[in-house]
Amino acid sequence: MDILRLTVLGAGVMGHGIAQKAAMSGIKTTLFDIDQTMLDKAQGVISKNIEKHFVGKGKITAEEGEEILGRLSTSTDLVAAAKEADMVIEAVPENLDLKKSLFSKLDEICPEHAILATNTSVLPVTAIAGATKRPEKCIGTHFFNPAAVMKLVEVVLPVGVAEETVETVMNFCKQLGKVPVRVKDVPGFIVNRLLCPLYMEAAQIVLEGTATAEEVDTAMKLGAGHPMGPCELADFGGFDVIQMAQDSIYEYTHRESDRLNILYRKMLEAGRLGRKNGKGFYDY
Ligand code: NAD
Repeated sequence: MDILRLTVLGAGVMGHGIAQKAAMSGIKTTLFDIDQTMLDKAQGVISKNIEKHFVGKGKITAEEGEEILGRLSTSTDLVAAAKEADMVIEAVPENLDLKKSLFSKLDEICPEHAILATNTSVLPVTAIAGATKRPEKCIGTHFFNPAAVMKLVEVVLPVGVAEETVETVMNFCKQLGKVPVRVKDVPGFIVNRLLCPLYMEAAQIVLEGTATAEEVDTAMKLGAGHPMGPCELADFGGFDVIQMAQDSIYEYTHRESDRLNILYRKMLEAGRLGRKNGKGFYDY
């Protein structure tokens, strides 16, 4: 099945980037949010991105830029936004009850053939799919921030997903110019499962005074070829998100080494969230 009409729920950090990339890939895209100001903001950011990075650099003509924007519409009406969708990707806040309730509503609203995808980072996709009567058509599509730029999509396979759904979603990701990897619905998927231990050990090195955050970052950038050091990357992702990811991995592995490092707990208690509030390992 080809995805001709996509609906993206949530016009925030991730939703607007996914919608931009889909509209640029020739897909008729509707961006839904409960907040009109978020939709207006998203549309403004998308038009600016297309003008600055594509039309302005001569990669596409002004007319092609207009066509892309013409494929993108916004809505605060869930029924109108989703009733003709071939696929829906939800990118609303990381809250299991909210995601389950939206999936249950989408199950009623969307055409029978429609695929329902979640962009969750740490929640069980199988539990979200379980809120519908179509678990075989539910899947995880874990994009990375910034979603319009980052190449990877982790395609997360919940229990009961049909191979046909997986194939369709893998092809859809490729159509968006992404590189999809399949992964089972296990906490952390691949990227966070590997990044979280790095975040924990980096914090431990800083905590015990072995080296500063700057030294840790410099070491990993110049010694291991990482584009960003672990402390910078932890600041970028946000300590609240790291806490959720780490806790979900610990709940799965029950390994002591997978517990959240106390430095993150203390920084969170002190109101330091990372870049999002200007206070992390570094001040911004
Ligand atoms: P965000 O807070 O930037 O945006 C969420 C949007 O959802 C807001 O515009 C909000 O108005 C809207 N919203 C709230 N309730 C809604 C509802 N009931 N229906 C429709 N829209 C609603 O969040 P985000 O950072 O874009 O994260 C979205 C999802 O993507 C989360 O599950 C998150 O874990 C995941 N994710 C985030 C990142 C990241 O780096 N930010 C990376 C990968 C995955």
